[in-house]
Amino acid sequence: MSLADAVPAPLRTAAAALTTAVAMLALAPHAGDAAGALPAARKVDPAARKVDDAARNSDPFLRTFDHLLVVSVDGLRPDLLETPHLASFPNFARLLEGAHTLDARTDPQFTITLPNHISMLTGRPVFGPYGHGWVDNDEPPGAKQGGSLHVRKGAYMASMFDVAHDAGLSTSFAASKTKFWLFEQSYGWDSGARDTTGDDQGPSKIDLFLFGDRTGDIAGAMADRLRRVSGRSLNFIHFAAPDIAGHSYDWVVKPGSPYFISVQEVDRGLGTILEAIDADPDLRGRTAIVLTSDHGGGVPRKTHTDITCPLNFRIAFLVWTGGGDPASDLYKRSALRVRPGREEIGDRDAEAQPIRNGDAGNVALQLLGLPPIPGSYYGLLRPMTASDPVPAGNSQSN
Ligand SMILES: [Zn+2]
Repeated sequence: MSLADAVPAPLRTAAAALTTAVAMLALAPHAGDAAGALPAARKVDPAARKVDDAARNSDPFLRTFDHLLVVSVDGLRPDLLETPHLASFPNFARLLEGAHTLDARTDPQFTITLPNHISMLTGRPVFGPYGHGWVDNDEPPGAKQGGSLHVRKGAYMASMFDVAHDAGLSTSFAASKTKFWLFEQSYGWDSGARDTTGDDQGPSKIDLFLFGDRTGDIAGAMADRLRRVSGRSLNFIHFAAPDIAGHSYDWVVKPGSPYFISVQEVDRGLGTILEAIDADPDLRGRTAIVLTSDHGGGVPRKTHTDITCPLNFRIAFLVWTGGGDPASDLYKRSALRVRPGREEIGDRDAEAQPIRNGDAGNVALQLLGLPPIPGSYYGLLRPMTASDPVPAGNSQSN
């Protein structure tokens, strides 16, 4: 089967549309840089910064940032980020400066934690020819017992960390649920692929793995990490508290509810991180944040497993490029994405896709001036790379 046969027709159409989008991007300074063209990336060329700053005035999306933080707020419902509730979350409000949507979607077939986080980091849906195929939401088995994304897939599956680390960036992962050891087992230590591009940065795609089950601790650890990092960096942080409150007391969107209080806790954590960015000239204006969620919650009561319910599948997707940029509709930033009906999760194979949490990894790489994740499907401005042939025997369509 040739690659053309393997790629569904809607993708091929999308790829044609992409050519136009990429050509447009290539006109902007640095937007067309390939990974190989980047310097070893430990140092940032001041001259390049000037050009970037000029580009930023016209379009912050085309600026190359030095540091990227992808934030996942487990179980965050986007109605919290609307008036009147938004007044209770000043740091989320700050992150709403810039392009965003409160009408993004989870994976088309899953509204549970692990499968959606794997999508964020690999740019793949759960199922389909490009799917990552991991449907479990429990603690993964040990690495040697099959607790690895690559073993389950039957082939190595790159993540956003592979692309950034191979390009010489420092990478970190901060989690607040133990099931996230799956990512350490898949990309940490000697689990990653050999680096065959430029200087060999080694097989550990995640340099620093942080774990803390308290919101303040994990936020503080990430703030510290950002303060101390040298060179450029790609970082990921996961906040579990809203999901835990939701499962214990339900997703009650009302001031004073345990769920509401847990999101205020995350807001303070974001404040700790934003303070670190504000205070450091190496971070301020050089750091972008992509924030999204694995799912919402509340249906059935105290959980989020009903994939037909908008309260579960509707999520936020925020792209913060340092503040000062006017709030804008992220759907207007991507000609390839279509806002779905409020009751629609969006069909997996439809040509018109909504913005999904699976876009996070490639949006992050785009803002770092890096190429997309090999084999990835999602990504707002450069999605659906179709660069890897579909592995034989892996075209499940369940
Ligand atoms: Zn949950």
